[in-house]
Amino acid sequence: MASTADLTRRQLLTAGAAGLAIAPLSALGFDLHEAKKAQQRFRIAGAKEVHSVCPYCAVGCSLIAYTKEDGGKTQLLQIEGDPDSPVNEGTLCPKGATSMQLAVSARRVEKPLYRAPGTAQWQEKDWDFVLDKLAANIKATRDNTFVAQDASGNVVNRTEGMAFAGGAAFSSEEGYFATKLMRSLGTVYIEQQARV
Ligand code: SF4
Repeated sequence: MASTADLTRRQLLTAGAAGLAIAPLSALGFDLHEAKKAQQRFRIAGAKEVHSVCPYCAVGCSLIAYTKEDGGKTQLLQIEGDPDSPVNEGTLCPKGATSMQLAVSARRVEKPLYRAPGTAQWQEKDWDFVLDKLAANIKATRDNTFVAQDASGNVVNRTEGMAFAGGAAFSSEEGYFATKLMRSLGTVYIEQQARV
């Protein structure tokens, strides 16, 4: 192994960084885990605890949402797993751990966006516009792709030009309703994705 005298400056820095990465943090006088917990306690001090359930999948992990009143508005401070839940015992999967983003993400799209055919720009539209557009497109697609009989003459009455995918935030009732609606349109390609 090369002595320190033989090391280039770059090798010395690399060796130093590797050594720091594997050294116990307590050896440096820090306990980051405790510091993180203290920071969280400070953040939610005096907050109201609201119990809820993760909306993403059928595991049904329990959540605690911490809220605070601020100038007449309810502010969501943090969401974490409920340690008293026999289902998740305080843990959350990576998706559930981001559930706060459902409410507070700066990147959340809050208004319908529409991109006209052949264009690259998204435009903000109101709900009346997008619902009418959706209904018109569904009707046109169904009219154009409806199959009353298959090649063997069997009556099938199906719409082959559309597919439907449910999402993880669906409740059982929404999933039931969506399936009924799609079946009534003759849609045969129906799928449910619990992890989207
Ligand atoms: S998405 Fe993750 S945190 Fe949410 S209920 Fe399912 S397993 Fe639990």
